[in-house]
Amino acid sequence: MILNTFNLQDKVAIVTGCNTGLGQGMAVGLAQAGCHIIGVNRSDATETQALIESLGRRFLGLHVDLARTEDIPGIIDKAVSEFGKIDILVNNAGIIRRNDAIDFSAQDWDDVMSVNLRTAFFMSQAVARQFIAQRSGGKIINIASMLSYQGGVRVPSYTASKSGLLGLTRLLANEWAHENINVNAIAPGYMETNNTEALRCDEQRSREILDRIPAARWGLPEDMMGSVVFLASRASDYVNGHSLAVDGGWLAR
Ligand code: NAP
Repeated sequence: MILNTFNLQDKVAIVTGCNTGLGQGMAVGLAQAGCHIIGVNRSDATETQALIESLGRRFLGLHVDLARTEDIPGIIDKAVSEFGKIDILVNNAGIIRRNDAIDFSAQDWDDVMSVNLRTAFFMSQAVARQFIAQRSGGKIINIASMLSYQGGVRVPSYTASKSGLLGLTRLLANEWAHENINVNAIAPGYMETNNTEALRCDEQRSREILDRIPAARWGLPEDMMGSVVFLASRASDYVNGHSLAVDGGWLAR
């Protein structure tokens, strides 16, 4: 029956950047659907761990700086030795730097591109190799942005990374669909997290943004739950290279 295809009982999901914000919302949503979670963060994910364990699911927290890719093999090894398999990867960890393009530094370019795009690719590659070795297929969900579609202002490396991530989602979907690996993206709109704190503190920008959102509110981490469960589940087995906007209507406007 259709609702059973959304059930993720005992699936194993890696969620990067899940100690707060959208990553935490998605990790909890996946756990509510039945997943055990491997959380990859620089800092402690104590709160997320407690939320997931209170649902009776297991949580393995790994401390990794995703600005570099050297630790990726260790993430896969620990996941497999602890849980025996991997079923789902959510490439959520991301950073943003704001400055006028005319003054933007090479450091702010490289830092953002490394976490948001380079690491997302090499995490996907490592997890896809594991899916292929398992002969299980699997699900990869990249967290894109409105700036995968639009230019934005004062965030050149962020726009480049998120536009690139959407292209990469399509390429990986094409290459790996025949291995029963689904690669898709979720493009959040303007959500209430640390990432948008500076925008929300700027009264004028905050009002301009809110006025443009048809749903008339900023999004919340729990708004991501339904989409991530869908894209992680059998219900989306014939969905490849798609980007699902969770944006209160922003892109439709
Ligand atoms: P957030 O609250 O700032 O969370 C970012 C997460 O990424 C944190 O868990 C952070 O962990 C992790 N992270 C960052 N750099 C890392 C690194 N080098 N190594 C390991 N983990 C790292 O932001 P958010 O809004 O939830 O963003 C989550 C994703 O959604 C990002 O990809 C963001 O671009 C995207 N997004 C957000 C919005 C929005 O409106 N909020 C809109 C569109 C897309 P640490 O605390 O350990 O650094």
